[in-house]
Amino acid sequence: MSESVINVSELTRRFGAKTALDSVSLVLPRGAVYGLVGANGAGKTTLIKHILGLLRTESGSVRVFGLDPVTDPVGVLSRIGYLSEENDLPGWMRVDELIRYSRAFYPAWDDGYAEELRRTFDLGPATKIKNLSKGQRARAGLLIALAYRPELLVLDEPSSGLDPIVRRDILGAVLRTIAGEGRTVLFSSHLLEEVEQVADHVTMIGEGRIALSAPLDDIKATHRSLDAAFLAHVGMPVASAPDP
Ligand code: ATP
Repeated sequence: MSESVINVSELTRRFGAKTALDSVSLVLPRGAVYGLVGANGAGKTTLIKHILGLLRTESGSVRVFGLDPVTDPVGVLSRIGYLSEENDLPGWMRVDELIRYSRAFYPAWDDGYAEELRRTFDLGPATKIKNLSKGQRARAGLLIALAYRPELLVLDEPSSGLDPIVRRDILGAVLRTIAGEGRTVLFSSHLLEEVEQVADHVTMIGEGRIALSAPLDDIKATHRSLDAAFLAHVGMPVASAPDP
């Protein structure tokens, strides 16, 4: 169970003069919920894009399930569920059509679980995607990302699309179930409260550098609050960090 799912070593990424990731090293063992927290522009999405193999490593290395996601995209992506802030779903499809369409791509698709999630997320089967609210669309995206029971679930800023109830109650329950089954969740957020609610382990990132990566309980035991820990280690409060 201690086998690492994600292993990033000395990863540096520059965009022109901007260093988006500065010698980032991170090992995430299987079976926990990892919160990656940092202000806008801290480097969260850039790190996630490397994990998904969407960016080629310039310096350092990235391994997911022991594989290079750039040279083995099928081997890696077939085992990952991914939900991003953008969450592009075809607006003309109905919810039931989206489910039928998506299941064709994944041999491990679990019909019973998809139906359970559809009910939990309160998504009407005949509703067109374009008529769903932003929060409902995020729920539909989450359903698709979960229903083939991926070994690794990656959520990039899920709070941007999810309404507060889904975020707190449903997302928390779903993520804990996934981790309990020995699967792994990595989610990014700029909200410390959100990370505190669902993560077992917190990684704080500021200006492309990992400032602290530790179990949530350890951080709480050694700091007054998560905000205080962020301020102490990243050197600025998460909310007032500069926008990119
Ligand atoms: P947000 O919460 O706003 O999404 P983030 O923590 O995900 O922020 P990144 O999107 O990883 O941050 O961006 C890190 C830095 O790299 C920012 O300064 C951003 O402007 C820059 N950056 C990211 N992608 C590119 C790109 N394709 N071209 C130029 N600069 C980029």
